[in-house]
Amino acid sequence: MTEGIYLDNSATTPIREEALEAMAAVYRDCFGNSSSVHSFGQAARKALEDAREEFAACIGAQAEEIVFTSGGTESDNLAIRGAALAARDRGDHIVTCATEHHAVLHCCRALEREGFRVTYLPVDQEGLVDLEGFREALGERTILASIMLANNETGVLQPVREMSRIARERGVLFHCDAVQAAGKVDLDARDLGVDMLAFSGHKFCGPKGVGALYVRKGTEIVPIMQGGHHEYGLRPGTVNVPAIVAMARALRLATLELEETSARLRELRERLAAGITGRIGGVRRNGSAKHTLPNVLNLSFEGAEGEALLLALDMAGVAVSTGSACTSGEVEPSHVLLAMGIPPRVAQCSLRFSLGRHNRVEEIDHVVDILPTMVERIREVAEVRVRAGARLERGEGAT
Ligand code: PLP
Repeated sequence: MTEGIYLDNSATTPIREEALEAMAAVYRDCFGNSSSVHSFGQAARKALEDAREEFAACIGAQAEEIVFTSGGTESDNLAIRGAALAARDRGDHIVTCATEHHAVLHCCRALEREGFRVTYLPVDQEGLVDLEGFREALGERTILASIMLANNETGVLQPVREMSRIARERGVLFHCDAVQAAGKVDLDARDLGVDMLAFSGHKFCGPKGVGALYVRKGTEIVPIMQGGHHEYGLRPGTVNVPAIVAMARALRLATLELEETSARLRELRERLAAGITGRIGGVRRNGSAKHTLPNVLNLSFEGAEGEALLLALDMAGVAVSTGSACTSGEVEPSHVLLAMGIPPRVAQCSLRFSLGRHNRVEEIDHVVDILPTMVERIREVAEVRVRAGARLERGEGAT
């Protein structure tokens, strides 16, 4: 097992023992194809339907409103493309937000190439979508809105309940990416008032490569892949029963432990934030401190590149992440931070710390202890580089 301090739980989480055991048990004892008629198939079918009930109960939904998929990306694509294609004769306009995950943004871009129009709503400095701006963006031809519950880079929580109500008043379907929120905040599909909600198992200590889409009864969507009639005709392909059973188990346990875990993670996160900002100057916290997940902390370290910090921390056995994307060898600043009005050179100097249920206070304190020296060194190197660059520009040459 990889050793070290893992503070990258928004990227993925370690699978919890109970989920792993549940998955192994299904692989071992219940391996039939859930579509087969014989008793092996029926046993798998029962495990699948029990898991559907278990999953649905965690989010206040009915079992038949849950479609299992291969993960968050597929769930977002099924929701957006599936709803857009189903409503094509009624309209061609989709509303989303600039800070969405690429699973949503790139799906919308693809639909634009197919003739749909998409509005990418801006966010304010805290990362929040303005409700009036949302209302105004919904027009006669708008068929769908897709706004995430919690942002994957900042943890910022959007006012989804209010937005879904506005969308409903205007007869517009509402999809919500709840991939980062599941298992971290109380989730009730009915209470949120959404038509679709996307989930991913590996974000709440379940297995990778499995997810779900809540589709409120009566919501019209079409499948985006062609094949058999699995999952109410919405998602063809042999169903991954072992992973689904494990995912449902992980979500149930996360839901049962939610209050306690959230409080603990919030405390750890604030200890980390206070420790870092108390010992290092020129640090800014990104995203709303009020409307946020309990476990995510996004910080910019003025003058210290995020990539350099990430590598230094990694060498010291600490895993964090930057929101930067690596495109053709160039490090691009995070689209989320840029959309919040953070200048590119500051966005480049950002780190995301995302905590999980296994993190302990000693780990947080260790990071607070080692980070100041790293930041100081990286800032010094950056300054030396700037001075050398200036000398070169003045034609003084290198020394
Ligand atoms: N949506 C959000 C907000 C995410 O954070 C992620 C993963 O990082 C996804 C969607 C995609 O989920 P998956 O990795 O299961 O495809």
